[in-house]
Amino acid sequence: MSTHNAKTERYQDGPATGIHVVAKPVGPLCNLDCEYCFYLEKRALFGTGEKYRMPDQVLSRFITSYIRSQPTPMVEFVWQGGEPTLLGVDFFKRTIELQKPFFGEKSITNSLQTNGTLLTDEWCAFLKEYNFMVGISLDGPKEIHDRYRRDPDGNGTFDRVMRGLRLLQKYGVDYNVMACVARETAKHPLDTYRFFKDEGIEFIQFTPIVERMPDKQSSQPGLRLAGPAVLDQEEHQTEVTPWTVIPGEYGDFLIAIYEEWVRNDVGKVFVMNFEWALNAWIGNPSPVCVHANQCGRSLVIEHNGEVYACDHLVYPEYRLGNITKNTLREMTARSFQSGFGTRKETALPRWCKECEVLAACRGACPKHRFATTCHDEPGLHYLCEGYRRFFLHIRKYCHAMTQLLENGLPASRIMDAFKGPLVIKRQVHQQKSGSYFGGPSPTCTTKIDPQ
Ligand code: SF4
Ligand code: SF4
Repeated sequence: MSTHNAKTERYQDGPATGIHVVAKPVGPLCNLDCEYCFYLEKRALFGTGEKYRMPDQVLSRFITSYIRSQPTPMVEFVWQGGEPTLLGVDFFKRTIELQKPFFGEKSITNSLQTNGTLLTDEWCAFLKEYNFMVGISLDGPKEIHDRYRRDPDGNGTFDRVMRGLRLLQKYGVDYNVMACVARETAKHPLDTYRFFKDEGIEFIQFTPIVERMPDKQSSQPGLRLAGPAVLDQEEHQTEVTPWTVIPGEYGDFLIAIYEEWVRNDVGKVFVMNFEWALNAWIGNPSPVCVHANQCGRSLVIEHNGEVYACDHLVYPEYRLGNITKNTLREMTARSFQSGFGTRKETALPRWCKECEVLAACRGACPKHRFATTCHDEPGLHYLCEGYRRFFLHIRKYCHAMTQLLENGLPASRIMDAFKGPLVIKRQVHQQKSGSYFGGPSPTCTTKIDPQ
């Protein structure tokens, strides 16, 4: 399954933050055959006889170009698939070798997104030695995980993934869990969340699964799923795949977990979806493209050096060039000139522009804006109902946590407020000319009430 790395923040805003590139050195090749995977079908783009292994020349050129394109002191490499561990540890030893000459110049980090089934002692020792951050795809307990995540023979993969997870834990590798929320998964929020907690998993990202059935207009030869939505025209094909999550149920799934988390686990379990929401409430730019103002700074490089505008948009019309012929700077500029990034914001329907939770949602990913608003405007995200329900529901909690943070207290103190009203009396330092807050009182009192 191709997914984003949970702790990988996708830098979006301003030239000073650089670009972010997800590398797919094995292309769409995978040892599993998860029912909902949107990337396996990309094999149709490369034809038969393709060797799905990034050649050394492409790898070397990518590493150099990526590091040179970054104005930031930190450069983050994200290795994804398909299943990148199919390449073997030696491929990644070579990447470290190629990165080493830049170690004094930049702070370089590596993340690996894996299904976990091929992890071994050798792998984990290597990942630990070079401080890789590993994102492991695990959807929940066995019955939930095995519902969609199967191998080509149709067997569930839970036991093999758990064996990989235990190895990561044994070697002390930094990891997080990427949990996909497909139609059936959404019916079991607490079983899923409690399972993760019981397994000692502290970093979790929930990713909703949305795909449309293909039709003549929306799909391309050889691809079994519809392509991205066309934002300014009504989409006739709105039928989703049987594994696509139901919008309201996705909202309810997140709400159920949030209710448990906000009472018991703030500061102990990090659910990235909740972190992003609080971040937005505070007024910071989103670290994740889906809820950022614009797209355009998260490119993807395929095994053959082809670069595309985003890993959800690996389609010929979103191809930006090839790393063997173009620099990443040139290709990013091309993406910007095409207007792809800004369209996320400018093409929002009025329904979104006037939405109470726009600041947190931002209309979500344009690829899945194939729904129509109640005013018959096209370009609404398929999951709107779920997002809206969730962001509205957690607003009071985000407000309370913001108050805590403004008062210099950790957001986790919100858990105290569920035991009774939490009144904070905070000493205000006096300046010679008056208090920092402009009032005469030496203390300020804030009542935190999330109920
Ligand atoms: S199209 Fe979707 S996945 Fe791609 S950068 Fe935009 S928001 Fe992110
Ligand atoms: S919740 Fe719905 S209406 Fe609001 S910004 Fe998101 S997609 Fe648009």
